[in-house]
Amino acid sequence: MLFDIITIGVGMKNIYGVSFEDLENYFLENNDKKFKAVQVFDWVYKKRIKDFNEMRNVSKETIKEMTDNFYFDRLEIIDKKTDIDVSKYLFKLSDGEKVEAVVMYHDYGTSICISTQVGCNMGCRFCESGRLKKVRNLEVHEMVLQILMVEEDIKTRLSHIVLMGIGEPFDNYDNVIKFIDIVNSGKGIDIGSRHITVSTCGIVPKIIEFANFDKQVNLAISLHAPNNKIRDSIMNINKAYKIEEIIESVKYYISKTNRRVTFEYIMLKGVNDSAECAIELSSLLKGINCYVNLIPYNETSHIEYKKSDKDTILKFYDILKKNNIGVTIRREFGSKVNAACGQLRSHYEEG
Ligand code: SAH
Repeated sequence: MLFDIITIGVGMKNIYGVSFEDLENYFLENNDKKFKAVQVFDWVYKKRIKDFNEMRNVSKETIKEMTDNFYFDRLEIIDKKTDIDVSKYLFKLSDGEKVEAVVMYHDYGTSICISTQVGCNMGCRFCESGRLKKVRNLEVHEMVLQILMVEEDIKTRLSHIVLMGIGEPFDNYDNVIKFIDIVNSGKGIDIGSRHITVSTCGIVPKIIEFANFDKQVNLAISLHAPNNKIRDSIMNINKAYKIEEIIESVKYYISKTNRRVTFEYIMLKGVNDSAECAIELSSLLKGINCYVNLIPYNETSHIEYKKSDKDTILKFYDILKKNNIGVTIRREFGSKVNAACGQLRSHYEEG
């Protein structure tokens, strides 16, 4: 760390935390030409240099300007577990904290699930990430670097990003929005907004704010229950924002964006998986432009919840279908490699 402080210098910015617009403005504010931002982004994100001195077609002044004011860094990959269709990474951040990202190989492309915070304060009872509590938000560059490090490691471009790793994206809203700007920018990593999904446990004011975000990014809501009684018993956030408020904010989001929303629903044995729950969920979501993603619970040794039986999941699925609710069952990835949220990190933190 001391080494970093000496070499990086006060006021220097991490290049991976700077959006294209930020960099254009930086050049303009310094009475310089904003097209230099195009050149720099091209070298950083298309050619993936790791030192500004590698920029070949730019002036010496620009290189000096960049070297004096911006720096590169990396995340350390401290563990990687691979199964047939999934790889799970554990990264060490510059202050020693750890976060995870999961890469999934589909027939339509390669997706990554990234973390947005170190730990999480949302306190969902079934979730491993929440057990260790939030330590801090991730900086923009720490989210961008999860993408870059993985792409370098697998030597392939990622096609989809989901913000469903450790943390609550809407509890780190501003950094998440800037991260989306950078990965979505045609001048930057250039992943289409329709290929980016943000998942929230239901922070209502932020769902409303997100409705006015000008990019066509997908929204997923971790609902997990058809009523307040069950939701109260498994998700602390439901004490702050009730199901009715979530549904209202989602309707507002759809009215502003015209986009279909995903409701995630973890199937927890004996908790939220009955036929009555399926019927109640169907009437709650009736008429909303949405679909439900039923998630087989990934069991973890520290938490008592169990996954629902296959038959129970299929019955639940059929009831939603019959009631004209769009529904899918999530394919199970990587349960052998501790792929559920936060499992690899907690394994390391607790030994
Ligand atoms: N905080 C955000 C994003 C991170 S959690 C959110 O709540 O949406 C991403 C998704 O994984 C959520 O739907 C969460 O409920 C789910 N999840 C957490 N632990 C899980 C487990 N053990 N098995 C299956 N899904 C899990």
